[in-house]
Amino acid sequence: MSAKRLAVIGDPIRHSLSPRIQNAAIAAAGLDAAYESVHVRPEALPSFMEAARSGAFVGFNVTIPHKQRVASMLDALRGGAAEIGAANTVVREEARLIGYNTDVPGFLAALRSSRPGASTRALVLGAGGSARAVAFGLRSEGVSVSVSSRRDTAAADLARQFEGVRVVPWGDREAEIAECDLVVNATPLGMAHLAGSTPVTRWPDASVPKVAFDLVYGLDTPFLHEAASAGWQTIGGVEMLIQQAAESFRLWFGREPHLEAMRQACRLEESACSAS
Ligand code: NDP
Repeated sequence: MSAKRLAVIGDPIRHSLSPRIQNAAIAAAGLDAAYESVHVRPEALPSFMEAARSGAFVGFNVTIPHKQRVASMLDALRGGAAEIGAANTVVREEARLIGYNTDVPGFLAALRSSRPGASTRALVLGAGGSARAVAFGLRSEGVSVSVSSRRDTAAADLARQFEGVRVVPWGDREAEIAECDLVVNATPLGMAHLAGSTPVTRWPDASVPKVAFDLVYGLDTPFLHEAASAGWQTIGGVEMLIQQAAESFRLWFGREPHLEAMRQACRLEESACSAS
């Protein structure tokens, strides 16, 4: 039997760390499988989906800009993908393609592995695809969530979709932080092309344990650096990247991946991680 083929699709795709992370887990598990990156431009998505449906891949990941469009092209959505409206993992079950959103368990696992105590009140900055996954995950854990985005209409759309999410005007976000024990950066501020920028400039001192979680993969973004200076515990985006990849691996292979091999593969590309 030939090796199982898996892939990540996106446009652009060259920067993706998924092949490195997944192939490390495949090698550590001794599986006969190979994970590749496939550059799929928007106009080529229907033909890729047809090839996937007819058996070219046992599963694949989806990244920018296809997560939402792919969700509308699948046979079923599970694990929050329907509510979020985006799928980042697809599993082929015979001729059916099933979509999942592993950003949700990835975010929650990264939060839990770094912080044993539960959060009660969170502020999510940004209202895009990852903010939706974070808000959905936190609400499913019973956390009180507010969302703040530079476009109030985007935050309002998100709040309408998830019960119990409150909108905080962008100009009031720093006042809101004083009331929260978890602040999540789900904007690209701090990424390589926006290096040095952060959605929070004034952090209140954390006299009780509080967490700043940056989805950006950089290891020392200004968001994390300044939060740490004010006594906040910090979590960077790399652990979420690993945990969402681990969840995809479980869905495809039905077994536990070697997390340390995945982390090691990412560390080898540390500079790429901070630049993604
Ligand atoms: P989206 O483009 O879907 O959403 C980005 C959000 O940030 C939007 O609300 C957008 O507002 C806002 N935003 C963009 N630029 C600015 C700015 N200059 N100032 C203030 N707000 C801004 O992106 P994603 O949600 O997919 O990704 C967000 C970040 O999360 C990225 O850095 C991405 O790499 C990271 N990420 C990390 C993951 C991980 O595993 N660690 C997983 C998924 C994402 P507007 O609508 O007005 O443009």
